[in-house]
Amino acid sequence: MAAAGAPEAAAGVLLELRGIGAGYGSMQVLWDIDLSVGEGEHVVILGANGAGKSTLLRVALGLLPLMRGTIRLRGEDVSGLRTDRRVAQGIGFMTEVGVFPELSVRENLLLGAYRLGRRQAQANLERTYEGFPLLAKFRSRSAGSLSGGQRKLVGVAKVLMGDPSLIVMDEPSSGLSPVAVQEVLDVLRRIERSDAALLIAEQNTAFLDLAQRAVVIEGGRNRFDGTVAQLRDDAALTRAYFGIE
Ligand code: ATP
Repeated sequence: MAAAGAPEAAAGVLLELRGIGAGYGSMQVLWDIDLSVGEGEHVVILGANGAGKSTLLRVALGLLPLMRGTIRLRGEDVSGLRTDRRVAQGIGFMTEVGVFPELSVRENLLLGAYRLGRRQAQANLERTYEGFPLLAKFRSRSAGSLSGGQRKLVGVAKVLMGDPSLIVMDEPSSGLSPVAVQEVLDVLRRIERSDAALLIAEQNTAFLDLAQRAVVIEGGRNRFDGTVAQLRDDAALTRAYFGIE
């Protein structure tokens, strides 16, 4: 048993970012950010436009190099590892767009399983069609011909096709009507019942309902890290993000 006051054990930590500094060219936009996601844990990164959420996700995925800091995946330093190697270790990424519009629904879904063998990919495709009958119906249509909400559904299903242990999503609500946002939330609630961990960058506080923990980024720095209940108890943050006293 850990002694009282002992440092938090690393066991169960899936993704850990420590002291992250990053930016574009000579312009630094993230300073000393810490973030961790436990196995199966659901974390929402909340922040206003330009706070640095997308940049932080890009760094976590290896799409943007670090200026400072360390990234560990299951305790192993992956700070210099290429994106495809991180994906091969079980990270699935859904960008704001989420799909390749010119490809069919089926082609998009199969791309999500590119690192798996053909047989596994086919089995996952069948599982996806069973779980999302709408996608079976639209399998031959181009993703770009679907509504915004339907496209996000393809994006979520595409990520799930890869059997990730961590799903990273950049603003799944972006560009959607309030009704479509609710539909996306319904789909994500299904992920809640799987073992996958979830890391979602969002401005929409409705996504906090999916999470156990929230991290607030302001001006490229950590402003808050705690449970969703603790966030709701913080008067200043509640005013800033929920628009209520
Ligand atoms: P949003 O919700 O608007 O996407 P965000 O919190 O995701 O905001 P980022 O997109 O990470 O914020 O942007 C953080 C800062 O980095 C902003 O000042 C932005 O202008 C800048 N930035 C983002 N992408 C680039 C880029 N490709 N080149 C230069 N600056 C960038």
